[in-house]
Amino acid sequence: MLRPAPWRLATALAALVALPAAAVEAPLARASDWAALSRPSQGPARAIGGTGLGCLAGGVALPAEGPGWQAVRVSRNRHWGHPAAIALVEHVSGRARAAGFPDLWIGDIAQPRGGPMPWGHASHQTGLDVDIWLDLRPKPRVPAAQREDLTIPSLVLPDESGVDPARWTPRHAQLIRIATEAPGVDRVLVNHAIKRRLCADHRGEAWLRRVRPWRGHDSHMHIRLRCPEDSPECRDIAPPPPGDGCDASLDWWLTPDARRRPVPGPPGPPPRLPLACAAVLRAPDLPTR
Ligand SMILES: [Zn+2]
Repeated sequence: MLRPAPWRLATALAALVALPAAAVEAPLARASDWAALSRPSQGPARAIGGTGLGCLAGGVALPAEGPGWQAVRVSRNRHWGHPAAIALVEHVSGRARAAGFPDLWIGDIAQPRGGPMPWGHASHQTGLDVDIWLDLRPKPRVPAAQREDLTIPSLVLPDESGVDPARWTPRHAQLIRIATEAPGVDRVLVNHAIKRRLCADHRGEAWLRRVRPWRGHDSHMHIRLRCPEDSPECRDIAPPPPGDGCDASLDWWLTPDARRRPVPGPPGPPPRLPLACAAVLRAPDLPTR
């Protein structure tokens, strides 16, 4: 039997010593790594990093339906969130229900361990973003499998100059307001045409500050929570500026500059996620009950 040469032994030892350092390297933000994880990590819930470059430890599942809501497209396995996000859905649905709204359709929250997604969203990485569809029709309770291929019409005119008067109602504004005033909400993203309409009807009202204009979001609103207190590694973005946001900045969205889609640069290596996401990536699955 061959005995290892002393230098081999030394190399092997050095590799052993080097291992822990290599193992705690911050992981690359490779969407395929995170989409492949079908279960959340064990342990307490923590949002880590920013919503556009982060992950989620101890994710909690939103049930497929509950009082006042129905999750849609559950086969995507993107209804995991920080408990604050689940509480948000319960709060908004409960308030909406009490105000006479039909069930709400809940879109994506996050993957089981958050992280970047291969398609659909640049954010939603920390379990603190929730999409709620702006659809006010009565919704029969059907099995979740029948809520896979739903589509709903846009509330915004094709040229985005305003909301579609045939579809927009004050009840849509009321639902957005309920979401905006829910505990812990940082901002609610809607299409700029929706924000303009809210400005026309509600100028000066305090809740408008948290309604922020964006592209898309013409048939759903995107609710973002502030970092919860149990998540010291979570990073908020700057809060919305003071005021109702009903100013000239809204007009920018109608300029050719705003309409030009950003051209992606040449592909480079993906950025790195926060260091703490390395442990989330490797952690054992939360067992299925
Ligand atoms: Zn969203």
